[in-house]
Amino acid sequence: MGLKIWLDDKLVDQADAKVSVFDHGLLYGDGVFEGIRVYGGKIFEHAAHLRRLYDSAKVIRLTVPMDLPAMQAAVEQTAAANQISDGYIRLIITRGVGDLGINPFVCKKASVIIIADAIQLYPEALYEKGLKVVSASTVRNHPMAIPPQVKSLNYLNNILAKIESVDAGAEEAILFNHEGYVAEAAGDNVFIVKNGILYAPPIQAGSLDGVTRRVVIELARREGIEVIEQNLTRFDLYTADEFFMTGTAAEVIGVVQIDGRVIGDGHPGPITRTLRQQFFAYARSR
Ligand code: PMP
Repeated sequence: MGLKIWLDDKLVDQADAKVSVFDHGLLYGDGVFEGIRVYGGKIFEHAAHLRRLYDSAKVIRLTVPMDLPAMQAAVEQTAAANQISDGYIRLIITRGVGDLGINPFVCKKASVIIIADAIQLYPEALYEKGLKVVSASTVRNHPMAIPPQVKSLNYLNNILAKIESVDAGAEEAILFNHEGYVAEAAGDNVFIVKNGILYAPPIQAGSLDGVTRRVVIELARREGIEVIEQNLTRFDLYTADEFFMTGTAAEVIGVVQIDGRVIGDGHPGPITRTLRQQFFAYARSR
């Protein structure tokens, strides 16, 4: 008994959910995707995720073969068919079947894949303890290359950074942009706290416009915490009072060490804890 997978225009058994070896998603990482949470049977920030997906597709000249309401219905149907109450959805649009050349326009039709499954979480102890991260030597994608805001199927740049963190025995890698400013983590957005103020690198510094990031900024403001989006340097990270990351899978998770520098007292700080709780409550209340 496997999962029910959405493939192009219908749900199929997992065993029948197959794509061609000539799909340019496989041959070239040509496509876009989203990772979405389900809380209490509801798709979290569904509209924001679909907007980002269609924007990403537009930038890479990929025609999504379904309109937005149809996509929304397909995501909901896939979650329901797999009885996902609290889980994770991976939505993938590949360029489709072409030939061995890179020209995307020989691919006649994009493929839609929707997988709804349980979510792999960081162990609870890690939220209590906080993460160790390293600065990656791999530079975040240049804005004149594949734009950093495009959630494309080609994650190799982030994967190179991730490898650096694994080699260093750390949980995550921080990427800086071509100007030396903080961009984001390999799979999450970053925040720091200094003197009670919450700082986030602006999206233009080269991060994904994270759905969790947006919600956390909103929740912080509701808590009366001042939020400033400005360029951050490695100095700012090293000397932060608190440091945390946000993302669909990780939600809000504290960072307690970067490149051997201990953040604050070495434990996730009070604002990090508050925002984690607020996010937890918000996500599950909707
Ligand atoms: N940056 C990158 C590179 C990511 O892959 C993700 C996870 N999708 C994020 C940031 C966080 O974005 P979100 O909160 O929308 O999951």
